[in-house]
Amino acid sequence: MGNDLKQKILVQNGIISDTEGKPKPNMGECPRCSLVNSIESKYCSSCTYPLTPSAFDEIKEQENSRYRLCTFYFKFITIYRNTR
Ligand SMILES: [Zn+2]
Repeated sequence: MGNDLKQKILVQNGIISDTEGKPKPNMGECPRCSLVNSIESKYCSSCTYPLTPSAFDEIKEQENSRYRLCTFYFKFITIYRNTR
């Protein structure tokens, strides 16, 4: 089996990606301020912009819980006011 064919089969089955081996462009580069961070950085060291999908999820989760807390507090205040 030729190497090319082997590669194609692996790509088709999702075992390897077509771009494997090539360095990803803009790795660690902040989309917001263009600062190049180290690859391991989850957040930009300049503007704290999330650089990885998991960091994005963390931020989203934090915002969700803050929002939930806020609506809970709001309901509580409304009920409290109405019972006085
Ligand atoms: Zn940044």
